[in-house]
Amino acid sequence: MSKLPNISTSIFTVMSKMAAEHNAINLSQGFPNFPVDEKLTAIVAKLATEDIHQYTPMAGYPPLLSKIASLVKHSYQRIIQAETEILVTTGATQGIFTTIQALVESEDEVIILDPSYDSYEAPILLCNAKPVRVALNDDYTPNWTTIEAACSSKTKMIIINNPHNPTGKILTESDIKALENLLEKFPKMILLSDEVYEYITFEEKHISVHTRELLRNRAVVASSFGKSFHITGWKVGYLVAPEPLMTEIKKVHQFLVFSVNSLSQAAISEYLDIVSVDEIGSFYQQKRDYFRQLLSKSRFKLMPCEGTYFQVVSYEAISNENDVDFCKRLITEHGVAAIPISNFYENGKDLHLIRFCFAKDNATLEEAARRLCQI
Ligand code: PMP
Ligand code: GLN
Repeated sequence: MSKLPNISTSIFTVMSKMAAEHNAINLSQGFPNFPVDEKLTAIVAKLATEDIHQYTPMAGYPPLLSKIASLVKHSYQRIIQAETEILVTTGATQGIFTTIQALVESEDEVIILDPSYDSYEAPILLCNAKPVRVALNDDYTPNWTTIEAACSSKTKMIIINNPHNPTGKILTESDIKALENLLEKFPKMILLSDEVYEYITFEEKHISVHTRELLRNRAVVASSFGKSFHITGWKVGYLVAPEPLMTEIKKVHQFLVFSVNSLSQAAISEYLDIVSVDEIGSFYQQKRDYFRQLLSKSRFKLMPCEGTYFQVVSYEAISNENDVDFCKRLITEHGVAAIPISNFYENGKDLHLIRFCFAKDNATLEEAARRLCQI
C-alpha cells in the first residue's frame, strides 16, 4: 500500500548519488560549489555565541520578517505587512507543500505546466486532488488557449514557475497579461507562483507576481534564500500571500515544522543589511556565458537560457539513447552528471534534452566542458 504509488526517488537524489559513486563532476542537482560569502559565515560565527538558539515565533524571526518586507519593497515596490503576510519556511519546498496542503481540497484540480519541477505533483496527490498537467509550447512559452481550456469550476489553483526550472524560460509581459485574464475568468482560482530564481535573470527582466495588483491579491509567492544567497543547504525560504490565504497556510505550517531554524534566520536577517540582490543576475550571467562559450566547441546543442542557473542542451547529434540512459552513461563513461529532462514530464516525454547546472566555480566548469567536448 502506497499513498504515492507512482512517485519514486527524486531524480536529483538519484543523479547526485550516482555522481558521487563514480566521482563525476556533479552538474545535475542545482546547487553552487563555490564558497559562501565570508561576511555571511562571519555573521553565523558571531551569532552562534549569542542568545539565538531557541524557537523563533511561528511565522518567522521578527527582524527577518521586516527585512523580507523591505526586500520585497526594494525589488518590486510592493508594500506587505510583515506580521500577517509573510511566512518563513524550510526552503521553498516546504512553502510549496504547505501552501498546497492548506488551500487545495479533495477533488480539486490544480494546473501545472509541463515540463514542471518535481515538487508540485506529490502534495496535490496527498490532498486527494488532481494535478492537471498542461504542456508548454515547444519553445516553452505557455499556451494560454490550452491552459484556459483545462480550467473549470473545479480548478482551485494554477502553479507557475518563473524563471522556469528546467528550461530557463521567463514569462513575458503578454504572458503576465494572459495570466491576469485567466484569473479574472476563474474567480475562485488561486495562483501559486514559484519564483525561487527571481534574482537569476539575464537580458530580460523578471516580471514578478509581486508587481501586479490583480495577481498578488490572489497569489502565494514562494522565494528561496538558498537560491539567492548560494546557501541551498540552509533550507530557508519564504512565502508572501494576502492575509486570508496566509492564515490558512500558517495553520498547516505550525504542525508541519512550527518554526524554522533560528540561527539561519537570524544570520540571513543580518546579512540582508549588507548584501545586495541586484548583482545576483550579472554574477550568474557571467557563469552562463562562460559555460556556453566552453560548450560551443562541443557537439551538444545549446538551448536558450533567459534565467535560472540551468543550461539545457540537446544531445541529438551524439546519441539516440533515451535521456535517462544517456545521463547514466555520461556519468559512468565521461565523468559528468546532468539531469534528464524527461523527468519533468508526466509521461516521461523524451526529447533528447538534458540539464546542466552552471552554478559552479570556473575550474569545475572548465573541466566539465573539457570532458563534454571530447564526446
Ligand atoms: N522550486 C524550484 C523551481 C526549484 O528549482 C527549487 C530547488 N531549489 C525549489 C523550488 C526548492 O527550493 P528550496 O531549496 O528553497 O527548497
Ligand atoms: N531545485 C534543485 C534542482 O532543480 C534540486 C533541489 C532538490 O534536490 N530537491 O536541481
